[in-house]
Amino acid sequence: MLIVDDIPTNVRLLEARLSAEYYDVVTASSGPEALDICAQGDIDIILLDVMMPGMDGFEVCSRLKANRKTSHIPVLMVTALDQPSDRVHGLDVGADDFLTKPVDDVQLMARVKSLVRLKALTDELRARALTGQEIAIEDAMRAMDAVSSEDGSILVVDIDPRQAERIRGYLAGGHRIDVLSNPADAAMAVSGGDYELVIVSMALGDFDPLRVCSQMRTAELTRTLPIILIAEDDDKPRVVRGLDLGVNDFIMRPVERNELLARVRTQIKRQRYAAELRQSVTNTLALAVTDELTGLYNRRYFDRHLSLMLEKAQEQARDMAVMLIDMDFFKSVNDTHGHDIGDSVLREFSDRLRRNIRGVDLACRFGGEEFVVLMPDTDWRQAQGVAERVRQAVAERGFGTNASRPLAITVSVGLALNDSDTDTPEVMLKRADVALYRAKREGRNRVVFDAA
Ligand code: GH3
Ligand code: MG
Ligand code: MG
Repeated sequence: MLIVDDIPTNVRLLEARLSAEYYDVVTASSGPEALDICAQGDIDIILLDVMMPGMDGFEVCSRLKANRKTSHIPVLMVTALDQPSDRVHGLDVGADDFLTKPVDDVQLMARVKSLVRLKALTDELRARALTGQEIAIEDAMRAMDAVSSEDGSILVVDIDPRQAERIRGYLAGGHRIDVLSNPADAAMAVSGGDYELVIVSMALGDFDPLRVCSQMRTAELTRTLPIILIAEDDDKPRVVRGLDLGVNDFIMRPVERNELLARVRTQIKRQRYAAELRQSVTNTLALAVTDELTGLYNRRYFDRHLSLMLEKAQEQARDMAVMLIDMDFFKSVNDTHGHDIGDSVLREFSDRLRRNIRGVDLACRFGGEEFVVLMPDTDWRQAQGVAERVRQAVAERGFGTNASRPLAITVSVGLALNDSDTDTPEVMLKRADVALYRAKREGRNRVVFDAA
């Protein structure tokens, strides 16, 4: 954490508080010094004083935000209470949040924590983008810039219609706002998953605002939904409890428009980064388990699942079948028509295979022109039926490739059933392979069941 202030006492005060919370603190006493430190990397958050001789905080902030190397570092501006216009100016130059002097402990820790979360997500997104090899840093940054904090979908929970309307008025220009006047309905209202932020007034009459928050935190769909509390001065102890419950931020009444805008923007940005990150994790995982050519699962995924499913079948004393499929004389398809035609045959085979097995069956490309299907809860008679159906689905109709006429393709199939309690994945596969070998030897285009 970098603290920037020209007055040494201010620096030392903040430094002491943050060090007590185990943050690593670096300090700077001027704008240029702060920029130097940030350029070296390693800074997660900047606490930036506005009033400094020479280069003021606004100038420092706008330079940080204009530089691609530093634009992702959250800036927490420390403004004077009697200068509300500072916040407008701060927002204009890209500040992420504000603190007013004298800095209040609860506020300080809440803002810092909120920005630490934002930064952690930003870092992870950048790292993900960077590990995808073709994507250069420029692209990663552009993708992050594209995550806007505009047009958020926000629920305001407040029993006082006048207050609620004021909040709506402040935010309506940039966001979609719904107001809920019955707090008991709040958990229900957000359960659809369409909101990106909830603003909860702490003045809810007899209703405990923290109950609303804890309900949202415990429900799976809203576990990560950002919550901002609107608090009165004497709510401080409850605010602290709320933050412990997982409330993301709070704002004191009377609500100041620009402060509200900044906090809303930070929370929505964080929520969208998180969604982006989840999506990219999902994509990465999908890539890691699928075969590129056919879209079926790959060998690595298969190996993992065979062990798991076999274990489960043995525990519950249930049948499980493995079907190993190998294209017949595939080498000659390549030799005659070329490798590309060979590839499209493999793709079309995968489609036919998928259409002839159940949703619970797991079809994988085992390697080359060999495929394997795991079939849970399947006895030998059913397995035989599926295998025969797949064999026919291939043999009955030529493959429509770019070759001048449809290619006649056949497959051979070896089947094995889980046998004893001691069956291992390797043993089961070996038996299917022996059966497949027999199918080949006995003339191909046939199904052979391993009679172990
Ligand atoms: P058999 O009936 O005994 O299985 O004969 P085969 O020709 O199918 O068997 P072999 O193992 O001799 O040859 C397999 C061929 O499959 C050789 C290889 O070039 C081809 N092959 C493996 N992977 C791919 C692939 O991804 N694309 C293409 N087009 N061909 C592949
Ligand atoms: Mg083959
Ligand atoms: Mg083969």
